Formats: sequence, C-alpha cells, structure tokens
Amino acid sequence: TQTAATLTVENLTVHYGGVCAVRDLSFAVPAGDAVGVIGANGAGKTSTLKAVMGLIPRTVGALRFGDVDLSRVSARDMVRHGIGYVPEGRHVFPGLPVEKNLLLGAYARRWNAETRTTLDEVYALFPVLGEMRARLAGALSGGQQQMLAIGRALMSHPRLLLLDEPSMGLSPKLVEDIVAVLQRLRAEGLGILLVEQNAKLTFEVTNRCLVVDNGEVAMTGTSGQLRRDPRVRRIYLGL
Ligand code: ATP
Repeated sequence: TQTAATLTVENLTVHYGGVCAVRDLSFAVPAGDAVGVIGANGAGKTSTLKAVMGLIPRTVGALRFGDVDLSRVSARDMVRHGIGYVPEGRHVFPGLPVEKNLLLGAYARRWNAETRTTLDEVYALFPVLGEMRARLAGALSGGQQQMLAIGRALMSHPRLLLLDEPSMGLSPKLVEDIVAVLQRLRAEGLGILLVEQNAKLTFEVTNRCLVVDNGEVAMTGTSGQLRRDPRVRRIYLGL
C-alpha cells in the first residue's frame, strides 16, 4: 500500500466563457482525512472536482499531492499519482460485464496477479458486485451502478478518492449503504474528497467541510461544527 499524502489546492478558478463557476478556491485534504464540499445546485462543486482532476480548463496557483506538483498532470495520469475519481452520474460501461468494468479501472497499473487480489477486495467490500460479476453493468440498479463506479475507482489503489454526488438518485436506504462504505474506506486510511448536495450524508462521512456558494468558499469548519450551525441547518439540512 502507498502512504497517505495531503492534497493542496490553492487559488483554483474555472470560467465557462464569461461565467466564473469557481473563484479563487483554496482548500486542503490532509493525508487520510475526509473533506466534504457542500453547496446548492450550481454552486460550483462539480466544476471544482473536474478542475482538480484536470478534466476542464482552469487556472490554479498550486495543486500538489504530497510533494508532487499535479498542476500540469493530465487527467488520465492523475490515477498514476494515486488520485481516484468517481464521476457524477457514475458513467459505467452498460454494455460490458461488471467484472470487465472493474478491470478497466485497473488499466493504469497493468493487469497482473495483484489485479485478482484487488478484484477480490472490491467484491469483499461490495458482495453484490461479486454475485453479479458476469451481468452487464447496464442491468444493475442505480445503487449497484454507484457501487460499481466506486469499486472501479478502487481498482487503481488510490490514496485519495474524489467522489461527485454519489447519493444522486438513490433511495435513503442505498444512501445509507454508501455512507457505510465510505466510512469503512476512510477507516482503512483512504483520503476522501466528497462533493454533495446531501449535507446530511456528507457530515456522516467527513471530518471537515467547506460550504461553497457561487464558486467561493462561504464557510469552513469541522463537520461537527457545521452540522450544528444554525445557517447550515436552515439552508442545507432543511431543519
Ligand atoms: P450540481 O449540483 O448541479 O452539479 P454544482 O455545484 O456541481 O452543481 P457546477 O456544475 O460546477 O455546480 O456549475 C457551476 C456553475 O457553472 C453553474 O452556474 C453552471 O450553470 C455553470 N456551468 C457548469 N458547466 C457549464 C458548462 N459546461 N458551460 C457553461 N456553464 C457551465
């Protein structure tokens, strides 16, 4: 296993034409921490994750993982640096079997004897994927596809996992399953950067959070502090 490292993001900015979606955003994910980004629809959460991954044009003052400068690393090479990414909407390959989807997540490491071990670890974490390994991914339920998307990202042995709205479209029961999985991964030492509209889920999984509004950091704090904050309770928890 690879050792943990801190992700540092300084002065991240994203424009779509004349629209500024993310403005001078700075934050860190300390080694092994779970950090949440919450905010309303359109606040800039997805853009932030895609910009960190290098999937969209952005400017950034500094982007480091440990001592490694990631600011010029292409999206496809991020995985080699230990960054895993679970995109919004899952994006599994519906016409391929579950196991093939998982193996595609290991492409950056070449398939070898260890790949089998990793596959077994993913099946241990998500028994339903093992049971359905030969089924086409398109035949899975939304919740199972979300598990598959997470499992696929784990196949590359990330040290930090970026997740974009894993709760989207899932029933409360399945959201609880996602919470349990993320808590377990965190306990195993995996760093997590979780972007969510579901603030309740985020507080259950993370130890620190930022609230983004209009592409800027509106509040930061420990997840415990924020879940008790009156404004957060009113706006993001609907209490
Ligand atoms: P959601 O919860 O809907 O994913 P979000 O917080 O992730 O929202 P973003 O998707 O990052 O927000 O969008 C931030 C802003 O950028 C929004 O105003 C959005 O309309 C705009 N935006 C996002 N993608 C594009 C695009 N491809 N072209 C133009 N504007 C965009």
